[in-house]
Amino acid sequence: MQRRHFLTRPPVMAAAAIAAPSLALAAPAILTPQSRILPRQGKGPRIVICGGGWGGMTAARYLRELMPTSEVVLLERNATFWSGPMSNKWLIDIVNTDFVNRDMLHPANKYGYTLLQTEVTGFERDQKLVRTSHGLIEYDFLILSGGIRNDYEAWFGNDQRAIEYTRTHFPNAYIPNQEMLSLKSKVKNFKGGTLVMTLPPPPHRCPPSPYERACLIAWHIKKNKIPGKILILDPKPKIAPISMGYQQAFEELYPDIITHVPNARVQEVDPFNKKIKTAAGEFKFDDAILMPPHQAADMVWQADLIGKDPATGKPTGWADMHNRLYHAKTDDRVYFVGDLMGAISPQFGHYPKSGHVANYIGKIVAKNIAQRVAGKEVTPLLPDNLCYMMVNGDPQEEISVKFEYEVDAASGNVIQHQIDMDVRTPDLVKEDFAWINSKFSDFLGV
Ligand SMILES: Cc1cc2nc3c(=O)[nH]c(=O)nc-3n(C[C@H](O)[C@H](O)[C@H](O)COP(=O)(O)OP(=O)(O)OC[C@H]3O[C@@H](n4cnc5c(N)ncnc54)[C@H](O)[C@@H]3O)c2cc1C
Repeated sequence: MQRRHFLTRPPVMAAAAIAAPSLALAAPAILTPQSRILPRQGKGPRIVICGGGWGGMTAARYLRELMPTSEVVLLERNATFWSGPMSNKWLIDIVNTDFVNRDMLHPANKYGYTLLQTEVTGFERDQKLVRTSHGLIEYDFLILSGGIRNDYEAWFGNDQRAIEYTRTHFPNAYIPNQEMLSLKSKVKNFKGGTLVMTLPPPPHRCPPSPYERACLIAWHIKKNKIPGKILILDPKPKIAPISMGYQQAFEELYPDIITHVPNARVQEVDPFNKKIKTAAGEFKFDDAILMPPHQAADMVWQADLIGKDPATGKPTGWADMHNRLYHAKTDDRVYFVGDLMGAISPQFGHYPKSGHVANYIGKIVAKNIAQRVAGKEVTPLLPDNLCYMMVNGDPQEEISVKFEYEVDAASGNVIQHQIDMDVRTPDLVKEDFAWINSKFSDFLGV
């Protein structure tokens, strides 16, 4: 050992090596996916949160506040936060990029949680470990908050060429990633022709937002006198929610631009020849925003926690969870927050897959975990929901929808009340900006 040591060390390095032998001799610490990373800190429980969007960042803040001795680790694949809310307005420059794209280190440092930019790749739940592209991370409680995945397989099976072509040529930007930039440049460079938008079947992320997107792109077409039309292929029998408000916007503001086709469930997509077959007929397009069905993010599938339809035994596509306490039915150490959550009630199915609900459930789950750790009884809490949608760019006018929830005393089921604000007004624009600023302040700490 001594001899080899001596021989491998060049004489000029000797002094430095003696002073700091580890610097001169130690091999770099190469991490593999099997390495255990992030040794535990402190004595409190460790909660690992997978996905740092609206829900995950909220849960991180409130866990640290409610349990100051806890260690909270947030795992997020993106370097920065991209907001879905306001992103339609950003597409046509009503807000700038700094508004929807934010720093994530500021809230992590302000609230005192660890943020690791990494890809979650799987779980070993029997050992309470998360697998990531950087290595294995231990947890006491796990929160899955990875949002949604695009189920292109529903259209193309395992035809990866068609999936890749669709994703890269007709991006829908419903997941926070580089597609948002691609879609913005598509809208800016749109020279005319028929732009098709396919809407996913319910449940899907932010039900009113595809219609808002159609209105704002139509406004851009109208303002810039582009010879273009928008064809909305909607699987639902009618526009929903805010049915009347959107219908009036389409008819009064964009009668020559927007055509809404109901009952147009997609049957076949040929992205190479720009053709779509639906239950309401066949359509050709010049350009498109193609939204396949939505499902819970890959991480819920990797955790083997996707629900099964009791009648058919087929995967529901969404988390298999307790509808009032938000943990997995088969593993109460694992919680779900945000759009990947499963059904809540036989009356309305899923909570609206919105940033508002993700933020609300993030707080509720933080409270639930804090109560459990303190040995207290867990209070089952309900969220509410609120969405503002811009339908006119000049003057700026919005419509909105509110959902309230309560427990029905007779059946014990959660029931939903929906309040549509169909009359478009500038006042709702003011309320919308007050809403988003209060939410960003809540979980981004700005
Ligand atoms: C165009 C548009 C308009 C919208 N408008 C509104 C609105 O006005 N009001 C409203 O309330 N909601 C709106 N929404 C919906 C809102 O964006 C979502 O409901 C909300 O983001 C859900 O929060 P979440 O935390 O579940 O998911 P997200 O915010 O998507 O966060 C999930 C995070 O998990 C990360 N992630 C996923 N998988 C992995 C992995 N394997 N490893 C590491 N990280 C991973 C993702 O990168 C992402 O950052 C809109 C959405 C869109 C697309």
